[in-house]
Amino acid sequence: MQQATNVLKEYFGYDSFRTGQDEIVRHVLAGKDTVGIMPTGGGKSLCYQVPSLLLDGVTVVISPLISLMKDQVDALIQQGIPATYINSTLTARETDETMAGLSAGEYKLLYIAPERLESRSFLRFLQTLPIPLVAVDEAHCLSQWGHDFRPSYMNISSAVTQLPTNPVILALTATATPQVQQDILHHLHIRDENMVLTGFERDNLFFQVVKGENRKKWVENYVKKNRDHSGIIYCATRKEVEALHQLLERKGIAVGKYHGGLSDSLREEQQDAFLNDSISIMVATNAFGMGINKSNVRYVIHYQLPKNMEGYYQEAGRAGRDGVDSECILLFAPQDIQTQRYIIEQNISPDMQMNEMQKLREMIDFAHTESCLQQYILTYFGEEGDARCGKCSNCLDDREQEDVTVRAQMVLSCMLRMNERFGTSLIAGVLTGSKNKKIKDWRFDQLSTYGLMKDQSQKDVSLFIEYLIAEGVIAVEGGSYPILKVSSKGKEVLLGQRSISRKIQKTTVRV
Ligand code: ADP
Repeated sequence: MQQATNVLKEYFGYDSFRTGQDEIVRHVLAGKDTVGIMPTGGGKSLCYQVPSLLLDGVTVVISPLISLMKDQVDALIQQGIPATYINSTLTARETDETMAGLSAGEYKLLYIAPERLESRSFLRFLQTLPIPLVAVDEAHCLSQWGHDFRPSYMNISSAVTQLPTNPVILALTATATPQVQQDILHHLHIRDENMVLTGFERDNLFFQVVKGENRKKWVENYVKKNRDHSGIIYCATRKEVEALHQLLERKGIAVGKYHGGLSDSLREEQQDAFLNDSISIMVATNAFGMGINKSNVRYVIHYQLPKNMEGYYQEAGRAGRDGVDSECILLFAPQDIQTQRYIIEQNISPDMQMNEMQKLREMIDFAHTESCLQQYILTYFGEEGDARCGKCSNCLDDREQEDVTVRAQMVLSCMLRMNERFGTSLIAGVLTGSKNKKIKDWRFDQLSTYGLMKDQSQKDVSLFIEYLIAEGVIAVEGGSYPILKVSSKGKEVLLGQRSISRKIQKTTVRV
């Protein structure tokens, strides 16, 4: 291990390994196949780069990020580490030259995309090289339960077993729920005890959920106040990126944009401008950022609700990679839920839609919980521990709590009277005495619970229902048209065996 520390110092200029890095490096050098799970910015790259310099032969790095391979390789070369890549951006001649260099033992690291392993001739070529280690970056792409499934990842295991040098496999990811962790272990045939999980907590991140604000105004004020700071604003759709980008530009704020609909050259130009600080704000879809290593991002704003917690945390985690305090802000508006449902319906195969809808549900719950936000994230990723972070917007929210058990009972009993077959808005409609035609048609205006909460707006009652879902009092079933049911916890509330409290809300004026 002393040798590893020497390499760390000599090539990378760091004095010591970070939490988790030392254990992973030790595992790899001892020849153990390993899964390493570290938060974004935790320093996953060094976990294979350092061993590659201590092992004979060339370490193969499998990464889905073709667009970043060149940057990664250039950075290594600058540090005096002979590295190269083979991907579809190279000409046939460049590929041949690189292969010749690999055969001549000129490189310590080779980056490739997983698809390349599907080529028989390429695999035959790899079989001729001394490969001591295969690093699988973004290993969550291997799981259908993850948020970024790539079918080509499924071939990695069989390709690696065909390598005569019997290399060590190191799988790395920042976002893996317990289910995804198990999938990675299973597919790569790695033993449970060889998983190194360093914890997902990033204690320099301040999480905040903002609800009920005019988002455009809010963002404008925020970026003006934080003019000197670098930040990323994520939107759910390209259209929204364009609209927000235009709005901020019109307000005289220098801002970049990035999404899959822009040309490669424009995207590259915008990305470079952001990386070298000539623009400090980037408005983008989730196409921006995977693998982007900009250390001084001071805030990440989610202008709209992301589709799941994995994506959210990966994006939010791009703030504060340098360890300096940074903010992660989610702006929530109920209509985003529909946007995300629509995106799921349009883009996800029907057999996986339920899974995605469930993930979306957990994202919505994050926006509605009144408990510690950091805690919610850690629990989501299967981490134990019950200390409040003390600095997220929920921990800092000093509004008094009120007992809302009776109102919860009103909602629950209304749901039962509607036979638990409807979603939030119709239930809120019945409770607030809406004249909606559907309510008349179903004769819900005859129910004793009709208009029971008519002192409140339908919007407030809907938010209250969302809160009850987040608290687990109401369960959600079904995909595009979710149906609400009284959960076992909800039954206890109905029977008066459990009470529910909530922070006192700002009431919106009834319209
Ligand atoms: P990840 O891939 O886990 O998101 P990176 O490997 O890109 O993270 O590392 C994030 C940053 O942390 C990089 O700037 C890297 O140079 C730095 N870093 C990694 N390991 C160490 C270390 N042991 N000491 C100091 N800085 C480190």
